[in-house]
Parts: sequence; structure tokens; C-alpha cells
Amino acid sequence: MIHRRIPADEEVLHRERLRVAQYKYREALMQTSNAAFDTKHAPGTTAENAGVYRCVGCGDEIAIAKGHRLPPLSHHEHEPGQRKVEWQLLVFAEGRK
Ligand SMILES: [Zn+2]
Repeated sequence: MIHRRIPADEEVLHRERLRVAQYKYREALMQTSNAAFDTKHAPGTTAENAGVYRCVGCGDEIAIAKGHRLPPLSHHEHEPGQRKVEWQLLVFAEGRK
């Protein structure tokens, strides 16, 4: 029988900190309350906005062009207990008109 060690709270926090999008220059990003960031998209649906998307269930991040399909359900597996795969816009990439 395999016993899995339960990680200490500090380990969990450290791991979570590593699983967020990163940037260097604050002046290149702008915070917004646009509702587009609240929508959760099913795997394989078309991305209406270009940018970085985050899986709600596991924190996996991908970058995608506008009009391309978000990764399908087979893109990555979730461990038991994790929420389902859904993609949420994390950073909107605004192209030139
Ligand atoms: Zn995921």
C-alpha cells in the first residue's frame, strides 16, 4: 500500500504561487473589470479574445490567438477532486487595428 504524504500548508502555498501568470513590466498591463474575464469556456470552443487563458480546474495556462479553438478535453488530465476543465481569460492580448 502506498501512503501519500500530505503536503504542509507552506508547500501548498509555495506551489500555488508558482502556478500564476507572471510579468515583469507593470506599465505594460492594465487592470480592468471587463466581463470577458469572468466567462468560463468549455474545452474546444472558439476563443473570442486573443490572450492567455487559465484552466479553472488546475491552473494550467495557455496562449491562443483570436478565433482559434481552446484546447480540447484531452489536452491535459485532472486529478480526482479537481474541478472540470474550463478555460478563463487571464490576460487579453490587444492587437493593432
Ligand atoms: Zn486543467
